[in-house]
Amino acid sequence: MAEVLVLVDHVDGEIKKNTYEMLNAARRIGEPSAVVVGTPGTTSKLADGLAAHGAEKIYVAESDDVVNYLSTPQVDVLAALVERVSPPAVLIPAGADGREVAGRLAVRTNSGWLNDLVDIDGERAGTHSIFGGAFTVQSHVTTDTAIVSWRSGSLEVEEQSGAGTQETVEVPATDASKSAKVSNRAPIVGGDRPELTEASVVVAGGRGVGSADNFNVVEVLADSLHAAVGASRAAVDSGYYPNQFQVGQTGKTVSPQLYVALGISGAIQHRAGMQTSKTIVAVNKDPEAPIFEIADFGIVGDLFSVAPQLTEEVGKR
Ligand code: FAD
Repeated sequence: MAEVLVLVDHVDGEIKKNTYEMLNAARRIGEPSAVVVGTPGTTSKLADGLAAHGAEKIYVAESDDVVNYLSTPQVDVLAALVERVSPPAVLIPAGADGREVAGRLAVRTNSGWLNDLVDIDGERAGTHSIFGGAFTVQSHVTTDTAIVSWRSGSLEVEEQSGAGTQETVEVPATDASKSAKVSNRAPIVGGDRPELTEASVVVAGGRGVGSADNFNVVEVLADSLHAAVGASRAAVDSGYYPNQFQVGQTGKTVSPQLYVALGISGAIQHRAGMQTSKTIVAVNKDPEAPIFEIADFGIVGDLFSVAPQLTEEVGKR
């Protein structure tokens, strides 16, 4: 069976859920091989989780230098592995960083790129969901390897054990004469809240929240549910909440067990980022709001009255 490479998405010694989805997708067309690019010691923290989710092989690409570059080490390591094992596909998370890696890798290896896949249909073929989920497109590449960027939340995570055999591979030295790190700023994160695309519960606010200060109502409900906070683009554009929390076509795609939409109308571009949530609860004072078309539970009412009541009820349990 052909090896299918999966670039491991990890942060602070934790594997992100989309890695498990990609291992699951890779299993459908071959033997999943996880590729860990990180600083020395990274793989030892991740290896058990990768093997428990089906990684037959784990390529260990560790170097102190990887923190100094955004995508070069990942591209270099993957390009060398593509040349060596000729995989039918390389799966990469479809975030901003992942897309940069995927694009560069496609050019470097002269491979076709299947961007933003939500399903794998064969060795070099997959399904995209486009125009805010309005159309489903199937495409395939005609090159030996497909570079796939994988949309998080598209597949269930399944536990299935793999051998997890580790093999160390070299991280090629980057030519420091061509680029240098200027500064490193930690991203703004939501405190102790879970990461938006990984959270099993998301509470999101829209323009109906009315101001940045009022977003406190959204945060309080989110904290009572141990949830991540999301926002519509209108809320972000109005300056109510930072844009890294935007959900939708031009923001993040989430697929939590529970999505609570507060004061969000449910425009198609917002739905594109959250309509695969397992249970959707909407609070909106307009009974005609489109969000109610996809909501499992809808409350017609003022969010400033409903959200605190929800918080109170959750607190009693
Ligand atoms: P509105 O549409 O203004 O809705 C506010 C809602 O709040 C209304 O339904 C109102 O009834 C309700 N409300 C008001 N006050 C209260 C209250 N006190 N209690 C309860 N309910 C109340 N949007 C995204 O979200 N994400 C994207 O990624 C995105 N990408 C886009 C890309 C493109 C190319 C374009 C053209 C648009 C995009 N948009 C995106 C914008 C999208 O079209 C909508 O404009 C946006 O989603 C609206 O946000 P909203 O629902 O918060 O605001």
